Amino acid sequence: MATHVTIIGGGYTGLSAAYEMARAGIRVTILEQEDYLGGLAGSFGVGGTQLEKFYHHWFTNDVHITGFIDELGLADNIVWRPSRTGMYFANNFYKLSTPLDLIRFKPISLVNRLRLGLTSLKMRRFTDWRSLEDKTAGDWLRELCGEHTFQVVWEPLLRGKFGEYWEQVSAVWIWNKIKLRGGSRSKDGAEMLGYYRGGFGSFCDELVDRLRKLDVTLMTSTSVQQLLSDGTKITGVQTPDEMYESDAVLATTAPPILAEILGMSDLSPDSCRPDFVMKLGETTYLANICLVLELDRSLSETYWLNVNDPSFPFVAIVEHTNFESIEGYDGRHLVYLSKYLPVTDPLYAMNKKEIFEFSLPHIQRMFPKFSESWIQEYHVWRARYAQPIVGTSYSKTILPFEAPIPGLYLSNMTQIYPEDRGTNYAVREGRKAGQKIAALLN
Ligand SMILES: Cc1cc2nc3c(=O)[nH]c(=O)nc-3n(C[C@H](O)[C@H](O)[C@H](O)COP(=O)(O)OP(=O)(O)OC[C@H]3O[C@@H](n4cnc5c(N)ncnc54)[C@H](O)[C@@H]3O)c2cc1C
Repeated sequence: MATHVTIIGGGYTGLSAAYEMARAGIRVTILEQEDYLGGLAGSFGVGGTQLEKFYHHWFTNDVHITGFIDELGLADNIVWRPSRTGMYFANNFYKLSTPLDLIRFKPISLVNRLRLGLTSLKMRRFTDWRSLEDKTAGDWLRELCGEHTFQVVWEPLLRGKFGEYWEQVSAVWIWNKIKLRGGSRSKDGAEMLGYYRGGFGSFCDELVDRLRKLDVTLMTSTSVQQLLSDGTKITGVQTPDEMYESDAVLATTAPPILAEILGMSDLSPDSCRPDFVMKLGETTYLANICLVLELDRSLSETYWLNVNDPSFPFVAIVEHTNFESIEGYDGRHLVYLSKYLPVTDPLYAMNKKEIFEFSLPHIQRMFPKFSESWIQEYHVWRARYAQPIVGTSYSKTILPFEAPIPGLYLSNMTQIYPEDRGTNYAVREGRKAGQKIAALLN
């Protein structure tokens, strides 16, 4: 009987790991609790085309996922286009796609605009991220850009994204974000972003198809509840319906979920490692809510609008159809309103209709011409584990790939540091994890 590995989670990490292990001759089973694959990059249907539940695109430096797509012979499906980026600040909209837009950005003085532009260039060339480990993003940005620019540009973004945690966020996190996004440019300096024809869901379907051809078993609506052990090592997993005997288990879920699974498992005191379970449980994440509007007309000209207004409850408005044509979506204009929040935030507990009704007056205030009658349909998507909080000295807290419980391996978005989450890194880490497990077992 071939060696068997069970992967918990059918997101991009799990799917990529399965690909590598199956190619190495290992029998692989993916168990996914949701009724769809793709995890946070999962999709739903609009007008016959797949649309991401949470807005997704790639940067030109996302070479691991684009390289993977190329290896699968699917590179023709990747499209690169200039994007229209902007900022909403003090009741005004500002374009921020090109260096010229930055020069025209009136809320800060010309000297500060030039300083901001130079800072972004400097950050993109900067490589010594270890020297930033003990600094917060706030302190570093204040030093580099000055207090006024910090208050106009950076503080609202950090607050909007991280809420109560914003002062803890590491300088390494913001350095990496600016490097990634700032580096995704054409020769004339305009931002370029990538997308998969037919949506990320189409790529996911292709990958799943390849996995099936490699005899990978893919189970959706199958939640892993416990790990099984013979007292010395992990021997399988338990779902409500079935037991999956395994030579190794790769967990790709958020660490607190793995902590819960381990807490439910009947492991011997030696192999349970309470210190490790506690560390898993302590990983801090923010959740995300996306309200997706299907409109009969466009809301604005911008694709990606950063909202630097603390009285507006969403941190970004992403008008997907200012990047992809409306044709594939039955003529609908698609707009995401995104909010990161702790699960204790009352908004997280609201139902779909309540979130919609709560949002309407805010949209109306920002876009006075907007009318509720433009809305053809709306959706609300929630992710409990959407963004890990990357604090100072984060490298000291990173979880190991090999758990101190033999037979259990971990690959998840908290381990990607100094980079931040993204499908690019899920694929990079998933493939690496798959290759390492295959090498260990073979
Ligand atoms: C709002 C938002 C916007 C984003 N935008 C972009 C973007 O523009 N570009 C980009 O590249 N990336 C983006 N990302 C990030 C990207 O989606 C993630 O980095 C990537 O999808 C993570 O993949 P993963 O497999 O590591 O984790 P996940 O996708 O979280 O997969 C883990 C899987 O484990 C499953 N699971 C959990 N518990 C169990 C259990 N007990 N049993 C079985 N299965 C279980 C979950 O259902 C999930 O499917 C965005 C994310 C968010 C939230």
